Amino acid sequence: MTDDCLFCRIVAGEIPATMVHETDDTLAFRDIDPKAPVHVLVIPKAHHRDVAALAFADPGLTGKVMAACAAVAEQEGLTGDGYRIIFNVGAHGGQEVFHVHGHVLGGQPLGRMLSV
Ligand code: 5GP
Ligand code: ZN
Repeated sequence: MTDDCLFCRIVAGEIPATMVHETDDTLAFRDIDPKAPVHVLVIPKAHHRDVAALAFADPGLTGKVMAACAAVAEQEGLTGDGYRIIFNVGAHGGQEVFHVHGHVLGGQPLGRMLSV
């Protein structure tokens, strides 16, 4: 738990979020500003600043986060038409919240991979 981290505070129940999936090690909740009909954020409960830090520190937990992303996609009905999982890293990656999170996006065609 990092006191000044928004997503640690969601894990702690200090800030409300619309939960869609939970395991012992992961949490998934709807993005407050959705960019697609389905936009869910999947996080490890433990604090790691980005997916690279998580992957180096705890490969097992990284796998659990990916499995949670897949479970959310299935639960949200995205497996037939497909979906996208995004992990933004750092400034050029557009990361704004520095607690690693996978964006699970779907529910409509998502277009080009990048729009810069
Ligand atoms: P990033 O740009 O760091 O990859 O993504 C951060 C995401 O967190 C954004 O899509 C933003 O809409 C979402 N977000 C920011 N604050 C909150 C919040 O308080 N609650 C929820 N559910 N999502 C948030
Ligand atoms: Zn955190």
